[in-house]
Amino acid sequence: MTTTLLKFEFQIKSEIMKYLISTLFIGMLFLQSCKMCDCGSKSEIFDDLGINIISKSEWNALPVDELKMGKHEISLITIHHSGVEYDGKKSSKEKALGLQKFSINDKKWPDVPYHYMIDLDGNVLEGRNENFAGETNTTYNPSGHLLIEVMGNYEVQKLNNKQFNTLVKMCVYGCLKYNIQPDVIKGHKDYAETLCPGKDIYENYLVTNKIKNAVKEILENN
Ligand SMILES: [Zn+2]
Repeated sequence: MTTTLLKFEFQIKSEIMKYLISTLFIGMLFLQSCKMCDCGSKSEIFDDLGINIISKSEWNALPVDELKMGKHEISLITIHHSGVEYDGKKSSKEKALGLQKFSINDKKWPDVPYHYMIDLDGNVLEGRNENFAGETNTTYNPSGHLLIEVMGNYEVQKLNNKQFNTLVKMCVYGCLKYNIQPDVIKGHKDYAETLCPGKDIYENYLVTNKIKNAVKEILENN
C-alpha cells in the first residue's frame, strides 16, 4: 500500500517537474525570439519620447513584398520633404496611401521610399520597414540611411513647431536605436543634387544646427 502511494507520489512529482521544465523552455524560447525581432525596444523608445505613430495598418497600407527590398544597417539619419505643397485638407493617412500607390505603380518600388513621414500635426506615419534601404530619384545610395520625410514642400512652406518637435524626437529615436551620434543628421541635399528637404528645413534647421543641438540636449538629459 505504502509502496503504491510512494510510486504515485513520485509519478506526480515527475509530472510537475516535466511541466516546470517545459514551461521554462518555452519561456526561454519566447525571450530569445523577442530579442531576435527586437520587438518592444522600438515602441518603447517611441513611447518614452512621446512620439505618436500612425501604423501602416492604420493608414490602410497595401501589402508589400519585402523580398524585393535590400537589407541594410543604419548609420546615418537623412531628412527629406515630400516636395509637394501640403495644406492638410487631405488627411495624412490618405497622403501616405497616395505616395505608396505612386511608389508601387509608377516608380515600381516595393513600398514608400521613406521609413517615417511626419504630418502637419507632428504625427509620424510608419513607412517602409527600416530594416530595408529606402529609395531615391537622385544619385546617392540610400543604403544605411534612416529616411525621415516631412510632408509638404519646404521651399515654399515653413516647418511648424509640432513638426520640428517630432523631427527632433525622430532623430533622437534614430540615435538611440542605432547607437549613432547626432552629427550624422543631414539633409538629402548634403548627398545629392536636389532642393530636398527644402529651403526652410535646410537653411533654418540643418545649417544652423538647430535640430542637432536639440537632439544633443535630449540625449544628454536621457
Ligand atoms: Zn529627399
